[in-house]
Amino acid sequence: MTTDNPRLPIRAPRGTELSAKSWQTEAPLRMLMNNLDPENAERPEDLVVYGGTGKAARNWASYDALVRTLRDLEDDETMLVQSGKPVGVMRTHEWAPRVLIANSNLVPDWANWEEFRRLEDLGLTMYGQMTAGSWIYIGTQGILQGTFETFAAVADKLQREGRVPAGSTGGATTAGTLAGTITVTAGLGGMGGAQPLAVTMNDGVVICIECDQSRITRRIEHRFLDVQAASLEEAVTMAVAARDERRPLSIGVLGNASVMLPELLETRAPIDIVTDQTSAHDPLFYLPAGTAFEDWVAEREADPVGFTKRAQESMATHVRAMVEFQDRGAEVFDYGNSIRDEARKGGYDRAFEFPGFVPAYIRPLFCEGKGPFRWAALSGDPADIAATDRAILELFPDNERLHKWITMAAERVAFQGLPARICWLGYGERHLAGLKFNEMVASGELTAPIVIGRDHLDCGSVASPYRETEAMRDGSDAIADWPLLNALVNTASGASWVSIHHGGGVGMGRSIHAGQVCVADGTELAARKIERVLTNDPGMGVIRHVDAGYEEAAEVANARGVRIPMEG
Ligand code: NAD
Repeated sequence: MTTDNPRLPIRAPRGTELSAKSWQTEAPLRMLMNNLDPENAERPEDLVVYGGTGKAARNWASYDALVRTLRDLEDDETMLVQSGKPVGVMRTHEWAPRVLIANSNLVPDWANWEEFRRLEDLGLTMYGQMTAGSWIYIGTQGILQGTFETFAAVADKLQREGRVPAGSTGGATTAGTLAGTITVTAGLGGMGGAQPLAVTMNDGVVICIECDQSRITRRIEHRFLDVQAASLEEAVTMAVAARDERRPLSIGVLGNASVMLPELLETRAPIDIVTDQTSAHDPLFYLPAGTAFEDWVAEREADPVGFTKRAQESMATHVRAMVEFQDRGAEVFDYGNSIRDEARKGGYDRAFEFPGFVPAYIRPLFCEGKGPFRWAALSGDPADIAATDRAILELFPDNERLHKWITMAAERVAFQGLPARICWLGYGERHLAGLKFNEMVASGELTAPIVIGRDHLDCGSVASPYRETEAMRDGSDAIADWPLLNALVNTASGASWVSIHHGGGVGMGRSIHAGQVCVADGTELAARKIERVLTNDPGMGVIRHVDAGYEEAAEVANARGVRIPMEG
């Protein structure tokens, strides 16, 4: 793609002047552009937003047509988008979504990367990831919040089980906090770099092993990591001192996880929680023991097959140490990087003895219809997000975790593109927040409308057997009717745009997922739509988990009046 593209750099308009015919169409227009803002997009010149090749539009002609069509679209019309290309405008009605999107979908027998790439090369499709092709990406805040929520759920589990974590200062772990515990993890990359801040936001201490000095330095510069220790021994000494004072601290240490984790085990370091976010999913990007960091690229290029074998053997050593920490009573989980399977291939047969993070911690939240709830200020004014932050805190005064997150996010998170915020809210909560924002737009407290959407990773909107729906209680991991019903119910309930995607997060053939975005433009009609969408959307999570046999979900359904014909 040319770098002299006259459209670049793309930046969503700010302020209250409309370039489309209403806020209901101005909002998708600004959010499409916002996804391609260089603050958000990894490669805007190729229309790539994030996640490998996740794109906002199929090609530049499609981008131009999307912009042109959104500017002309009436409030009783709907634009249809097929894998990043606007293919039709239909007369609908004012309750219908203004945009309906289907990205990257393939018939199951053809749903593999090879066929997808062939079709992509022919210009017939594009990869939409989750929020790239559905125009609701908000930068790395999403990763930080998800990681914060995962570690908070780890703390809850320890509390629920009444476990005194090994090596803690004694007494049960306080609810919702990692104070008095030490976590060990590895990998400070794009995703993994959120771990140190997520642990300290939960009051814990964490040692992060990373083999690339530049990654450690960058995380310290961005204030995601507090300090670097000169050696593993020093890291443990610092960690124990901080833990004993119940002082949050994140410590980076330069080294190889497959060497250092066994050392921690051998020296009986008092570790409570162990996970990993090295790029284990691709063995060429996992540094094997015995290879110097400086030789990594040359060695993997010279002999990819031999390198893969050595990386898998090192992962076997790494995972063996994780399992043995679990044997000693530590809380251990796989953080979505496939390290268990690579260790199995490397010859270790106990690799799957610890769970993935979704079944272990996130599923209980999904049972309550809890999941990511994000919003962006179309004004572009950070003061609008500050006002919504205050509103959320007032709306949910007793939710300590939410208060902790919002307060710290306001201090620590730099906005990328349009100012935005994310938090996790459950069934019965999301619509209250949406209605409050709509009122604030109507009263003029906010200077322009707010868009409210979410990642496709939510309680009732994704089928992804290697991640979100791994190990469902009734074995329904691969049933993809749920995300389709989710998209249909959001369409029927009045969302402003709705999307159905394939292959986000985990790749072709492995997931089907759906998203929705509502526009709080301050009108009475928007309030009625928001109330329905933000009730029914998380409601899908509750019914999906009731159907799969989770009692926690059945209790939520009973208590909060979710109607399920064959229950109760
Ligand atoms: P990344 O490639 O940006 O970073 C990985 C880091 O691991 C690098 O900094 C690398 O130097 C380091 N590393 C590699 N081998 C090492 C070793 N032996 N010892 C110490 N450090 C080592 O990857 P990322 O974007 O941070 O993602 C990390 C992993 O998480 C990936 O496997 C990714 O697929 C997975 N992931 C998980 C989720 C989730 O839902 N939890 C979502 C997306 C991705």
